[in-house]
Amino acid sequence: MKCTYPHYYKKFRCIADKCPDTCCAGWEIVVDEESAEKYRLADGEIGKKLRSSMAVDSDSDTVFISQNRRCPFLLGNNLCEIYIELGEKSLCRTCTLFPRHITDLGSRKETGISVSCPEAARLIFSSDEPITFETVDEDIPIQPNDIDPTTYFILQKAQKTAINILQNRKFPLNLRLIAFLRFCEDVQKKIRSADIREISVGDEYFLPVAPSEAQAKRTLNRYAALLISLEKLDPEWAQELEASRKHCKLRYPTEAEHLAVYFAFRYFMTAAFDGNILSKAKFVVFSVISCMMLTAELSDRQDKAERTEAYRRYSKEVEHSAENMSSVFSAIKKSRCFGSDNLINILSGNSKEK
Ligand code: SF4
Repeated sequence: MKCTYPHYYKKFRCIADKCPDTCCAGWEIVVDEESAEKYRLADGEIGKKLRSSMAVDSDSDTVFISQNRRCPFLLGNNLCEIYIELGEKSLCRTCTLFPRHITDLGSRKETGISVSCPEAARLIFSSDEPITFETVDEDIPIQPNDIDPTTYFILQKAQKTAINILQNRKFPLNLRLIAFLRFCEDVQKKIRSADIREISVGDEYFLPVAPSEAQAKRTLNRYAALLISLEKLDPEWAQELEASRKHCKLRYPTEAEHLAVYFAFRYFMTAAFDGNILSKAKFVVFSVISCMMLTAELSDRQDKAERTEAYRRYSKEVEHSAENMSSVFSAIKKSRCFGSDNLINILSGNSKEK
């Protein structure tokens, strides 16, 4: 099977007890059935603790019952008790995979690391060079699936062009995001008509519209209201959102480019499952705008580490909550404020890069 990774993937190492956040706090850990069965049969004190720490939640998932928003197996020194007592192979699927994200396309697999992990975020934003990708053959059997082959073919060809648009530094970042949206609108039309001919991207894709400041403010307010309405893993995040609403400045174009490429790599090919590339493209642009809103109040004196932390929190709060992702995608599909014209209007008025 062909497997694609971003260049930073292989450099990732969990920093465990040195992690300023730890993935074992703040959210619910879902235990896969195979691991849950092993845990139910485990011997000794750890077996007793495992049995008493699992419950079935409202989605019928088996989860660890958190204590003060921490995994019950997370020790005071932020090391994992299951890892220490039973070894790395005993970790459940969630803990083994995190912070990796995988899009399994049957004949191809895309794997990256999530910005929600502090060490992954540090790696992703540590370089100003464009993110690159490597595709290798791995000895993994191809899995049959029901992805429509024409949709898959169109998306696979378009993904490379979409990332090239986002990394085309000949144009300022706001115009690249506009071109990315317009390109994905065209890809959507190709999917609808099952047209596999390639789209040629000219300079006209990168043209802004005459911006309306009042309309941009109204739309940003709607986006901030949506973020504020989401379920919060960390209550402090609500305060940060309140403070950041209304402004979106693309002051850090390289970081915004990395964010756009990260989200595009993570979600572009997921359109193979539902044929809706435009909603994924809007989510990419909305996420960049949201991250820029969250850092707009930080002064220029504040360093990259603080901005990286703001991006990490967005990823953790939004991407890692199935409920929040569902609310955001529902708004993207239904709300007028997520029309391409509204997104392009915000981006067109945002030409001042640092
Ligand atoms: S958040 Fe990342 S660095 Fe921190 S403990 Fe989890 S995997 Fe390791």
